[in-house]
Amino acid sequence: MSHKLDWIQDELDALKASGLYNTIRTISSAQGAWLTVDGRRVLDFCSNNYLGLANHPRLVQAVKDAVDAYGVGPAAVRTIAGTMDLHLRLEERMARFKGVEAAVTLQSGFSANLAVIPVVVGKEDVIFSDELNHASIIDGCRLSGAKILRFKHADPTDLERVVRENLSDYRRGLVITDGVFSMDGDIAPLDKLYQVTRRHDLMLMVDDAHGEGVLGRGGRGIVDHFGLHGKVDIEIGTFSKAFGVMGGVVAGNAKIIEWLRQRGRPFLFSSAATPADVAACLAAVDLLEESTALVDRLWANARFFKEEMKKLGFDTGSSVTPITPVMLGEATLARQFSRALYEEGIFAMALGFPTVPQGKARIRVMISAEHSQDDLEQGLAAFERVGKSLGVIA
Ligand SMILES: *Cc1c(COP(=O)(O)O)cnc(C)c1O
Repeated sequence: MSHKLDWIQDELDALKASGLYNTIRTISSAQGAWLTVDGRRVLDFCSNNYLGLANHPRLVQAVKDAVDAYGVGPAAVRTIAGTMDLHLRLEERMARFKGVEAAVTLQSGFSANLAVIPVVVGKEDVIFSDELNHASIIDGCRLSGAKILRFKHADPTDLERVVRENLSDYRRGLVITDGVFSMDGDIAPLDKLYQVTRRHDLMLMVDDAHGEGVLGRGGRGIVDHFGLHGKVDIEIGTFSKAFGVMGGVVAGNAKIIEWLRQRGRPFLFSSAATPADVAACLAAVDLLEESTALVDRLWANARFFKEEMKKLGFDTGSSVTPITPVMLGEATLARQFSRALYEEGIFAMALGFPTVPQGKARIRVMISAEHSQDDLEQGLAAFERVGKSLGVIA
């Protein structure tokens, strides 16, 4: 007998048949250079724990203190009874850290994008969006009801063309780009994109999820990296990557931030971040402001790993950040490579279509300040052995 939900099993079977079914591994240890994954101790090359803050003693202690003082839950949305002094302190600290007028925190980077885009554009407006922008940007754009026009990846000339051909049909225009593109590790040409927005009086927004705590002086992000302070209207950040915690932030123009506190739906209708998360984020800002040691270490590790991988003959694509794609081509090869690495005690996931284009499957290595020189060399040796046995390198 047919059943109204049978279609789900059909869809799941189709995913499995095409090799696109997500098998989710389980971690049973704290985050760090070494993890227990599905019961096995492995060297981690796929977390976003860039600075090793996810289990840093200073953040852990801050959480314990916050729980003692504030308990565990916010018990309300920000606009009713959920705004604690901790939230405001983090927002002030982030604004100062990033050198912007104001900042507001959200529950995640994903909800930051859903909150801010619909408050600055609507049905009569147009969004110019990099074709490789993150899913949460795409969803925020759709929610806004604005017309969405894509420009070629990281291409200011194409942006200029799309703007010239279309802007006059709309009330307002917003340009949105990822800061660091998470699949390739390349950086948006934000200085050149800014020039286009200046010529046409467009709003400019960058999602710096992978740049926060990574790019710029002491991890102050992509706007700092390009010296564009005061020129980017909206900067999205996340506390779930380099900051090692959980949460999102919208930083930039004070009027936009004030408007978001009045109209941003995830701000108005979803509860505030927990005291523990906020306290951990505050401790992370403290650490970043005290010293650039962790950020320096991250970049030194990333440079070393990437140079050695190139010497071995691997293609690491267009990355200029600690995100290191190892280009393999076919998805089956990438999956085989990832499995062989796991057998060698290395945890690095394969990414294939539709996460990346057809024929551009890869292993994505995420380098962290947590990796010791020994860890990196162990990883390189495993890549060399697997690369040779699968005929990827000579
Ligand atoms: C990871 C990521 C997000 C989502 O951030 P969360 O805090 O994990 O929700 C948003 N945008 C980009 C570009 C990202 O890479």
